[in-house]
Amino acid sequence: MTETIFAKIIRREIPADIVYEDDRCLAFRDVNPQAPVHILVIPKQPIARLMDAVDDDESLLGHLLLTANKVAADEGIGDAFRVAINNGAGVGQSVFHLHLHVLGGRSFTWPPG
Ligand code: 5GP
Repeated sequence: MTETIFAKIIRREIPADIVYEDDRCLAFRDVNPQAPVHILVIPKQPIARLMDAVDDDESLLGHLLLTANKVAADEGIGDAFRVAINNGAGVGQSVFHLHLHVLGGRSFTWPPG
């Protein structure tokens, strides 16, 4: 896949406010937050969109969700947060490196816009 700005964040070539890292993923604050807490959880392995994940990525995808739980708890929003994935430009994906938006700290409406 074409390299994105998130690959540069993983390699520390551009700065980011990183809140969690392990061997498989990285979590950092969104540069344009849509809520008081807005963190992006990304795999270090580049996967462009959720739909590009394959069976071998099953464990990694679970790990990303559990990391979302962890960062939400660490931010003090562990009992009320939203996890969103935009899959494709048609629904607003702008960076083609899979990322989970972890949002909280305000009220939300449903369905999302
Ligand atoms: P998408 O629209 O693809 O679902 O979400 C991409 C997100 O990445 C956006 O919320 C945007 O603000 C965030 N973003 C884009 N470039 C950067 C960057 O260089 N640093 C950080 N921290 N976030 C970024």
